[in-house]
Amino acid sequence: MAIKSSEWIWMNGEWKKWEDATVHVSAHALHYGSSVFEGIRTYQTPGGPAAFRLQEHVARLFASARLQRMDTGSFSIDEMVNVCLEVADRNHEGACYLRPFFFRDAGGLGVDGSACPTSAVIFSIEWGRYLGPEAIEEGVDAAVSSWRRFTASSMSPLGKIGGQYVNNQFACMEAHANGFVEAIMLDDRGNVCEGGGENLFLVLGDVIQTPGLASSILGGITRDSVMTIAKDFGYEIREAPISRDMLYLADEIFMTGTAAEITPVRSVDRLSIGEGRRGPVTKRLQEEFFGLLAGRIDDRYEWLTPVRQKETTKCA
Ligand code: PMP
Repeated sequence: MAIKSSEWIWMNGEWKKWEDATVHVSAHALHYGSSVFEGIRTYQTPGGPAAFRLQEHVARLFASARLQRMDTGSFSIDEMVNVCLEVADRNHEGACYLRPFFFRDAGGLGVDGSACPTSAVIFSIEWGRYLGPEAIEEGVDAAVSSWRRFTASSMSPLGKIGGQYVNNQFACMEAHANGFVEAIMLDDRGNVCEGGGENLFLVLGDVIQTPGLASSILGGITRDSVMTIAKDFGYEIREAPISRDMLYLADEIFMTGTAAEITPVRSVDRLSIGEGRRGPVTKRLQEEFFGLLAGRIDDRYEWLTPVRQKETTKCA
């Protein structure tokens, strides 16, 4: 997918035009993957565009930086939150996808990299349905990857750290080369972790099961949102290990992520899941989730932040 550029990029406190936001070829992150990043969506609501769980995303960005031992002392959560809103506001009338990130910039090629200065960037693009235009209703065909997901004994699954995504790239490239839309990654013991860029849920009768945070997954913000909604609906949510064969016997499977939102999985390794199309539980959760995002349903969890901050009325 080619990126449709937007006009303004925020880089280390300065506003730059898209084409001017460049880095030096010796930047540490370019060689060793020493970057941490987020993906955040804004949605169009009746009151104007609003960012979904912005504070939580920016907090996770700083958590990833901590895991990467990256110095973020020159930047604060509040500043990054405000700049995200400004990037969205400057560049888009409606919905967009925000990409804030920190990276180790030019300053030496030693592997350690901690002496390199940290740069901060926020840019935005328009991004439609990550797994294809029909995926949300029709579901996707997924395959268990032959590549295992790294575990917390070798890297930090809970961090969104650039270099770690080479592992995901291997899995996604393999899935695409074999004609599948998305990969499902297992850990070193063969238990299910997540998709190539999404968390994974199984519907097993009245229970909704997903691997726990210690199962080499990213602690997805969409995952948390779906669990919150599902609990409110009265479903039992079980955070517990999932074996490979549980996938094939599930009534429904869906994936969650900022890019993928809530996407049903209709087959795994060419075996149909349930009826081979989106199931009723997935549909119900989607309706609530998309209703909240679009401002059609009351924002009872306070997940939305308006992109255009209202002028504060000063009292005389
Ligand atoms: N797992 C991985 C590996 C991801 O890259 C993502 C996308 N950030 C997710 C899960 C889903 O996380 P979130 O819902 O916070 O976007």
